[in-house]
Amino acid sequence: MSVSDQNALDRREWMKVSAAGVAATAVAGSASAQDKADEVQKVSDPVPTRPLGRSGIPVSMLNLGTWRNPGLDRLLRFSYANGVRYLDTAKSYGSEPAIGRWLKDNPDARKNIFLVTKDHPNTPDQLIKQLDERLAALQTDYVDLFFIHGIGDSYGKDYKSLDWPKSKEWKDAFEKIKKSGKAKLVGFSCHDQKRTEFLESAAQGGFVDAIMVQYSPWLDKDAPLNRALDACHKAGIGLISMKQVAGTGDNILNDVPKHVPYLKEKKLSAYQGLLHAIWSDERISSVCVSMRNTDQIRENTAAIKSYEPMKLTDIHQLRDAVLACGKTLCADCTGQCATAGGTKAKLGDLTRLLTYHEDFGYRSEAKRMFREMDAESRDWADADLAAAEAACPNKLKFSSLLPRVNQCLS
Ligand code: SF4
Repeated sequence: MSVSDQNALDRREWMKVSAAGVAATAVAGSASAQDKADEVQKVSDPVPTRPLGRSGIPVSMLNLGTWRNPGLDRLLRFSYANGVRYLDTAKSYGSEPAIGRWLKDNPDARKNIFLVTKDHPNTPDQLIKQLDERLAALQTDYVDLFFIHGIGDSYGKDYKSLDWPKSKEWKDAFEKIKKSGKAKLVGFSCHDQKRTEFLESAAQGGFVDAIMVQYSPWLDKDAPLNRALDACHKAGIGLISMKQVAGTGDNILNDVPKHVPYLKEKKLSAYQGLLHAIWSDERISSVCVSMRNTDQIRENTAAIKSYEPMKLTDIHQLRDAVLACGKTLCADCTGQCATAGGTKAKLGDLTRLLTYHEDFGYRSEAKRMFREMDAESRDWADADLAAAEAACPNKLKFSSLLPRVNQCLS
């Protein structure tokens, strides 16, 4: 099993918003006077929506990812008050009970919320059974969208066949669920190295309603993933972006705006600019962001309210400035770094764990996941790091990152 397929840590989405936001995360639980005032604020209008694929269901263009958010009750209230009407959870996030309680206490909110959860079935029958368990955890009769969580090679042989999104038995299970009314839509989330192939297969199969996928706002026009997104969009599959950026450290806040006139002109932070860049791709209906404090919610909802489509030249300036910050998060592409570097080590997985450790502060999780990797996947001693760096579209600096991996995680 690759690191990228393990349960908890990679199943969440992430976008840091500001240094102030990070600091606020660290002191979650001691709500400031400002936070208390914010909680009793008037509920604002919903944030703008986009239709989710062929379902046509309008969904908030910004959604609240709830993976291990500290002080979730407060974040649910605050995000709702700021117009977010889409909540993303999963069995492994640990957030379903809090969401269930909040929705039970706020029946009017339930009617307005697009609620998404996920689980890890190995068979179509399990998918149906697991949905009942998720509904019980959420104390609700239905969810709006039910995902197979993080599809990839950890799912065993059935999923190694990329044909499952075209199979009759899975199609029947999806239809049975929708007919039952327990989920309006069914799909999968994916950040696997084979996500392009999974997307292509789903576009051909025609029964997957929505896909949440690791996405970058500066995909090359001819990149296979970009073409697969086109195929899904054409087939009416709703697309949700996740895991869009991380691992840039605080440089991004200081350095990026200096090099991107669009940000200065619009008075946006680098992360608000990234959201604008993602929303500029109209195939993407919503962006999942793990907002972990009220500052982040405030900043991201402000971004959506000031959104207007970015020109390609502005997006490219943003890309160049972000990459120049020394990004450390592997975008989990096809793994060409390892091939070019002539190694069996999973270079992308190793750098991702470093991001979890250094940027996200999930130290014990990162160490645990590192320990669980097999020896060959961790051993990069034989790798040609210069060749690996040259092959990586995110220009990860393996020569400085990998020694830090060993230092911090072993
Ligand atoms: S080439 Fe870069 S983005 Fe692709 S798997 Fe390797 S580290 Fe990740």
